[in-house]
Amino acid sequence: MDNSRRKFLKLAGVSAIAGIAAPAAFNSLLKGEAFASGGGSGHGEDKAPTGKRYGFVVDVQKFAADKDLAQRCINACHTTHNVPDFGKDNKKDEIKWIWTETFGHAFPDHSQYKKNTQLVDLPIMTFCNHCDNPPCVRACPTKATFKNADGMVLMDFHRCIGCRFCMAACPYGARSFNWRNPAVKNEDGSYKYIRRPNLDFPTRMRGVVEKCNMCAERLAEGKQPACVDACRPTDGIIFGDLNDPNSEVSKVLREKFTIQRKPALGTKPSIFYII
Ligand code: SF4
Ligand code: SF4
Repeated sequence: MDNSRRKFLKLAGVSAIAGIAAPAAFNSLLKGEAFASGGGSGHGEDKAPTGKRYGFVVDVQKFAADKDLAQRCINACHTTHNVPDFGKDNKKDEIKWIWTETFGHAFPDHSQYKKNTQLVDLPIMTFCNHCDNPPCVRACPTKATFKNADGMVLMDFHRCIGCRFCMAACPYGARSFNWRNPAVKNEDGSYKYIRRPNLDFPTRMRGVVEKCNMCAERLAEGKQPACVDACRPTDGIIFGDLNDPNSEVSKVLREKFTIQRKPALGTKPSIFYII
């Protein structure tokens, strides 16, 4: 048993001995009373930002103009990260890093009453918001989910014990649980559920949670995230440092009106949408 699992079980044991009911312990984790997340500067803060704070701008109209664009983004991300495809008949096991929602589902706090009919069928690209104030990080008892210095909310698959507290804490449904082994192989050695395996990226195992990692491995090589590249030559998704006033994302945010998903929750999403 690794150290993280041992610590979590110890916490569970202490809670039981102390007579703390499971829901109370869970709420305590969500509030960050048991495991506080790291602090950090960033968008939405009163003080001047320091360091990097990566984020995205999604131009919904670009996806309206090119009906295949959303699927190209999904294919690029899921191929890059060995996201398995269990088929349409196994939706309950689906693993998704980037996907589309209707406007009403993506932005439920905007009035849906007699809304612009053009918006109804628009595919809204959604993925982990890499929130500046991420409840998933506070909820994770093993620190398998953590925020790094550049504002990315990342996963250490080896530390994940599959408790799914992070899934319950994320208000955007941005996390998937591996109910089955995504790396199962056929007799000939090929992957059963991964059509074009990327040997430079790890596969996962049953019982862990996963989500968009902001293409941290590509950024480390000086590349853009795979979804951003898949949008070229349009600027359907723009990526960059929100704390750099000269970055493309900062310029777009200054020039265009944008909205975020569920801003009232205070998670401070790092994805902005031009509607
Ligand atoms: S979108 Fe969900 S998973 Fe991503 S950082 Fe925010 S709370 Fe965490
Ligand atoms: S399931 Fe989520 S909360 Fe639980 S250990 Fe894994 S990442 Fe952390």
